[in-house]
Amino acid sequence: MPRRSTPPPAPGVRTAVGQVVQIVRIALYAVLGLLALLTLSEVPVVSRWMRGLGSQRPLVGVLAGHWQNDSGAVCPDGLQEVEINLAVARRAAQLLREQGYDAEVLPEYSSKLSGYRADAFVAVHCDSCLDGYSGYKVASLSGASASGRLLSDVSEAYALATGLPSHPDTITDDMRQYHALRQIDASTPGVIIECGFMGGDRYLLTEEQDRVAVGIANGVMAFLRRTAPPTTGAP
Ligand SMILES: [Zn+2]
Repeated sequence: MPRRSTPPPAPGVRTAVGQVVQIVRIALYAVLGLLALLTLSEVPVVSRWMRGLGSQRPLVGVLAGHWQNDSGAVCPDGLQEVEINLAVARRAAQLLREQGYDAEVLPEYSSKLSGYRADAFVAVHCDSCLDGYSGYKVASLSGASASGRLLSDVSEAYALATGLPSHPDTITDDMRQYHALRQIDASTPGVIIECGFMGGDRYLLTEEQDRVAVGIANGVMAFLRRTAPPTTGAP
């Protein structure tokens, strides 16, 4: 029995199908290109190039504590501070970008830190795995007034977003003399935040990282609204 072949589609149908395929292909390339650009925007050279394209949006540097260097504090079950810091820093940077700011995530000992210029700088860390301790703390180099304002804005927004109490009693000289705050340009307002204790605040730090990031991003934006409003997508 001869095989019954399906009749070829009419020329008009063929053209329409071809056009749809072409459109889908272009859309796919556009999405892939956008994803690649988003990924590469964390690479310093690319972020500089992207800024050079005319973006004059205020820049925020978000340092992910211990990233690309060490694990930071480690809990008995293996939970590492650096994992939390990086996830929170990336999310905070994303939130800032969505609100019209430029934000880049920096590793602990980024080569860019020396003389780093930005509209705000926040280093993200967490405290040890001690049980029974709870609370966050924010510190800056003493004497820098812009950093002092950034400190109070971040502190206020963070408390509001997370519900955590501040824990100023355990602010150490290590925090106040943090290497990154001493390296960045004197004109860059900078703070370090310890987002909570990996012991007492574990649930917030691991399961509610969005609230942690929102607290940081809101604090930075409250500060920038007065000093460096975004040019597009105003919050
Ligand atoms: Zn740390």
